[in-house]
Amino acid sequence: MGRRFLVAEDNPKNMRLVGMLLKAAGHEMLTAQDGEEAVRVALEQRPDAILMDIQLPLRSGLEAMQVLRATPGFSIPVIALTAYAMRGDREQFLEAGFSGYLSKPIDTRSFLRQVEEILDAPGNPTGNREE
Ligand code: MN
Repeated sequence: MGRRFLVAEDNPKNMRLVGMLLKAAGHEMLTAQDGEEAVRVALEQRPDAILMDIQLPLRSGLEAMQVLRATPGFSIPVIALTAYAMRGDREQFLEAGFSGYLSKPIDTRSFLRQVEEILDAPGNPTGNREE
């Protein structure tokens, strides 16, 4: 079953790449180019899952995450996209409420598998996805 993803990413090249990969796998994609748009589209459109760049204009991915997690009833899984690859990042992102994270540059071969693994992990919110 295809999912409806929101991709929040300010880099057009990455956005195109992620869009290609998601659509080729039968998923739908909504887009946001900054952290404020990401919050607005997430709350208005209630996608099945969100891919959130951490370095976004207006609000960072972490700030957008804080707003979303503070919204009553919000249970959509959010995956961080980050160029950082430092030790301890994983814990930091999980603590912030992200379901997992993918590091950039995006690995086109494993991207979809990584996304599915995070979304299918036990204990993850299922969002409004129908089983
Ligand atoms: Mn960015």
